[in-house]
Amino acid sequence: MKYYKCGGETFELTLNPFPFKCKRCKGNEALIEIPSQGIKVCLTCFNQIFENRLKNTIKRYRMFRNAKKVGVFVSGGKDSSALLFSLKKVFPDLTFQAIYLNLGIRYYSDLAEETVRKLCQEIEVPLYVYSLPKEEGFCIDHFVHTMFKNKICSVCGVIKRYLFTKIAKNLSIDVMATGHHLDDTVSTMLTLFFQGDFEGIVRLGPVLPPLYPGQATKVKPFYHTPEKEIFYYTALNKIPVETCTCPHGEITPSKKNKKIIEEWEKENKQFKYQLLSVFLKKLIPLLKTHPDYKFSPSEFKSCVKCGEITSSSDEICSRCKRVSLIEKLEDKKLELTPEKFKEFIENHPKDDWMVFDLREKEDFEKGGFDGALWINPEIVQASYRKLSKLFKPYRNKTLFFYCYTGRLSYLLTLKLRKLGFKAFNISSPERLLTG
Ligand SMILES: [Zn+2]
Ligand SMILES: [Zn+2]
Repeated sequence: MKYYKCGGETFELTLNPFPFKCKRCKGNEALIEIPSQGIKVCLTCFNQIFENRLKNTIKRYRMFRNAKKVGVFVSGGKDSSALLFSLKKVFPDLTFQAIYLNLGIRYYSDLAEETVRKLCQEIEVPLYVYSLPKEEGFCIDHFVHTMFKNKICSVCGVIKRYLFTKIAKNLSIDVMATGHHLDDTVSTMLTLFFQGDFEGIVRLGPVLPPLYPGQATKVKPFYHTPEKEIFYYTALNKIPVETCTCPHGEITPSKKNKKIIEEWEKENKQFKYQLLSVFLKKLIPLLKTHPDYKFSPSEFKSCVKCGEITSSSDEICSRCKRVSLIEKLEDKKLELTPEKFKEFIENHPKDDWMVFDLREKEDFEKGGFDGALWINPEIVQASYRKLSKLFKPYRNKTLFFYCYTGRLSYLLTLKLRKLGFKAFNISSPERLLTG
């Protein structure tokens, strides 16, 4: 079983029973090695160890103390899906509310929404879906038309944080659980440390109390759980997860640090826990006592546009600053129907545009769109540098792309937009090729 995650990393799991019994219960066949502990256990024991760690983390940091309604934002990825699944299993009597944010990412958000629906139905947790395009008339993809075109993941983070707060308030959620795991925390800690962002480090604790009244407490029940074990848990329990990756997946500094940590871990299995412990027990308490450190901003203002609380000095929150760029756009299109595409080419001289076929070569040779140029579909995975060089001759033209379903050509369209090309995807390519 393979699992692809944001930024192109993969996990793989092959189950080959070991020729001996489980080292824990000594009854069942040993099937899986717990990476952080190096012991080989059966499926039942793996689940027990995983769920006990979750239970102990929640108890130790008193995460659910007085919780009336625990909210979980589920993205369809393994972390949040495994979190909701295991929480419901370990705390069957607690009230949970699942939330899915449909950010309107084409060829991705709707698929992930279906996966989240399936999970919530299976484990009987109520689901609330917030659709950004329906509620606010824009989607994350539109940011490729703005100065944030190469920082989509960070813009997405700002928009999501705003919605987390707003939705939690509307649904009367008092505790919000997130899927941040040990690897996330440790790699972010290192990244912030190198950047000298010590206030950021303090916020990496397992429990974030509300910054102002009415805000939910944020908790991280997977604080001590390694990412790999979440993947194993997801696979072994057949938890529905979306394996399609977000087309905006970017390589961030903390993902690079993850690779460094992995190398370190090969030498020392306890490396992540040791690093976490030094930060948590030594550095964070020390930072908190520093006279310059303020845990919450001294004064809060309401954003003049959306009314949410902001610490921004000009009284417009960072979410509203970004959204206003979208509001100024006259044309947000990234995709045309075959009919609109044909209308375009009828009204523009042949020299102004190019159309590319991203299917397998033999299918293109059997019949592509008249005048289309074939390009190898593997090009989609090429680096930005290579893409920029490759499409340089077409810098001043309007570029159109199609493939079998629209998904791959959309991915290339987004990448070229980020490089400043005027690129469009053609949706429903079957109508283009037959009609
Ligand atoms: Zn066992
Ligand atoms: Zn605002």
